[in-house]
Amino acid sequence: MSASFLVPAADPKAGYLSHKEEIDQAILRALEAGTYILGNEVAAFEKEFADYLGVGSAIGVGNGTDALHLALRACNIGRGDIVITVSHTAVATVAAIELAGARPLLVDIDSASLTIDPQRVEDAIRQYQESREKSDGGRLKAIVPVHLYGQSCDMASIADIAKRHDLTIIEDCAQSLGAATDGRTTGTWGDIASFSFYPTKNLGALGDGGAVVTNDAALATKARELREYGWRQRYISEARGMNTRLDELQAAILRIKLRYLDEENSQRRRIARQYSNALSTADLILPVSRDHETHAYHQYVVRSKLRDDLRAFLKTNSVGTLIHYPVPVHLQPAYHSRVMIGYGGLENTERVCQEILSLPIYPQISEGHIRIVTDLISRWQPQTQV
Ligand SMILES: *Cc1c(COP(=O)(O)O)cnc(C)c1O
Repeated sequence: MSASFLVPAADPKAGYLSHKEEIDQAILRALEAGTYILGNEVAAFEKEFADYLGVGSAIGVGNGTDALHLALRACNIGRGDIVITVSHTAVATVAAIELAGARPLLVDIDSASLTIDPQRVEDAIRQYQESREKSDGGRLKAIVPVHLYGQSCDMASIADIAKRHDLTIIEDCAQSLGAATDGRTTGTWGDIASFSFYPTKNLGALGDGGAVVTNDAALATKARELREYGWRQRYISEARGMNTRLDELQAAILRIKLRYLDEENSQRRRIARQYSNALSTADLILPVSRDHETHAYHQYVVRSKLRDDLRAFLKTNSVGTLIHYPVPVHLQPAYHSRVMIGYGGLENTERVCQEILSLPIYPQISEGHIRIVTDLISRWQPQTQV
């Protein structure tokens, strides 16, 4: 994300500058209002965000990790519980599960969509059922599908599995705001969902922010209490809560940016089309968008066996790229000795992280800059011997 790149991998400042006047005014309004925590801006944003998604409630929180942690806790998931998710995700997904006190059970991804493979979820559940008597008594409680890169997981299959096995679904929507599948927006399939407003996400604050959304009024009430010390009534803690509040300044900024979200997501789709058209003959695996889904293109991720060479070549030519993510969670120093791995292992996860490369994508990137990237890739002559 270095400013020294002609084409940076991401450019959150461009997101500010493109709405600068409105954002500056919103910040002044919040400063003048004088309530800096849980005031009118947060309440208004929560209403507007819930309406945008078509859900009953949204609860603004400090960041996306807290949002997932809070969502798990609202669903009573904690010590002694097992939660199925993927290893090919931001470490935050797994960190949140552990923060809630639960144990992550990591399953492999589908090699085309790079999202959770429903068959591996089934396999993990069967493996768990067969070994239950021998195990240390953990209860399989939930699935956290991660809609990575802006692409929805196969939610029809996940919802079916969850129903048959009585599992809670908590969607990690940090990268998928605006994505939909089978006519349904991500974040509305499960019992509850978490979002991140980290500056480079599709709806980015100018600092940290996150939200929990749900259609279940009781879960919403619980999440609201847990957000602030477990208070139902001020100074009276009904539960051992957290402190994770979205602040008024970020809420005021997010209210402005939310108005442009659909337009900016359309721009992301246009950029993705431009990449896909220009790179159709390149020796790369391109992302797929299936017919029945709306991709939010948080990232545009290509794959190559010569990824490191391509990345170095682009860097030499002043094009920034990122790798989401270079080390899967189960191979991270802090996690590798503890996390459980689902039946069949994590072969796709381990292969794919060597091949993936996120090309620059953000709503303000110019067509000319995209052409620079695609022209460079067309000219690229791999130096690496395979
Ligand atoms: C960004 C992200 C998070 C964490 O959000 P923060 O706001 O950085 O805490 C969680 N999950 C995924 C998939 C993410 O991309």
